[in-house]
Amino acid sequence: MRYDCIIIGSGPAGLSAAINLKTYNKNFLWFGNANLSDKVQKAEKVTNYPGMPEITGQELAGAFVTHKEHAGLEIIDKIVSTIYDMGGYYTVMAENQFFETDSIILATGVVPSNQYSGEAEFVGRGVSYCATCDGALYKGKTIAVVATAKRFEHEIAFLTDLAEKVYLFPYYKDCEIEKENVERIKKPIKEIKGGFRVEELVYGENESLKVDGVFVMRSAIAPTTLLNKLEVKDGHIEVNRQMETNVKGVFAAGDCTGKPYQYAKAVGEGNVAAHSVIEYLGEK
Ligand code: FAD
Repeated sequence: MRYDCIIIGSGPAGLSAAINLKTYNKNFLWFGNANLSDKVQKAEKVTNYPGMPEITGQELAGAFVTHKEHAGLEIIDKIVSTIYDMGGYYTVMAENQFFETDSIILATGVVPSNQYSGEAEFVGRGVSYCATCDGALYKGKTIAVVATAKRFEHEIAFLTDLAEKVYLFPYYKDCEIEKENVERIKKPIKEIKGGFRVEELVYGENESLKVDGVFVMRSAIAPTTLLNKLEVKDGHIEVNRQMETNVKGVFAAGDCTGKPYQYAKAVGEGNVAAHSVIEYLGEK
């Protein structure tokens, strides 16, 4: 089955795009975080969102969830790791499942620019963002797993069942992964090194681990890692006023397109992107 659109990202931009695609009865999927966006939850006080003169982030998140439910929208709580251009349509990979779509809205938020040194270089050659997709390659091997949120623990558990040794770098509170073959390390990562493939992880005070692979589990993935021919400037996806990217049928909205990083901008761009998708589908 081929969908009209796939929205990637569940913050205000993704929500706004989803509400509008639903209004126009489009057949779409929406990938993101079941909690919508940590960035909404975490705001102490929001004073610049029209109609809500003073509201906490949690209250705003609650209002977004109510709207999502009222509109009958479902979020698929999976990280999208790759988009394949199939020439006229796209295949989206989310945790080892593939979905076909005519168009895409990227609403992934801004990706912190703290990619590790060597990370981009070794993508597909030992650096992976998806346990269920690539885990089997590391059966009986030694891997490092870097995770930024508790929601990845089911994927980490999957990897600990396969790999012989797992060096786990949990950058979140209350890590519950306890297993004989797992060694937890609470030090910063410095560099991923190797030859053709990953061979070594450097961390802490230039300490080093011999590894066959490194799994990096963040809630967001750099746009060019998702789709390598996307035009990006200073880490932001280049768009025009219709929220079109340089790739036909791929649109972007919200923080991922640039500053200011604001709810109202994200919502507005999500709205425009959805309308552009509707027009694009009509022309197609
Ligand atoms: P985000 O809110 O970042 O949402 C993106 C979502 O998509 C995330 O849930 C992410 O997990 C998910 N996602 C990303 N990549 C993938 C993928 N590959 N697969 C699946 N899901 C993915 N703005 C204001 O206007 N007023 C304020 O008062 C204000 N206060 C703030 C306070 C704090 C502490 C912070 C951090 C931000 C604040 N902001 C404020 C900024 C605001 O949070 C952002 O501008 C806004 O959330 C951007 O929305 P977005 O939809 O673009 O992305």
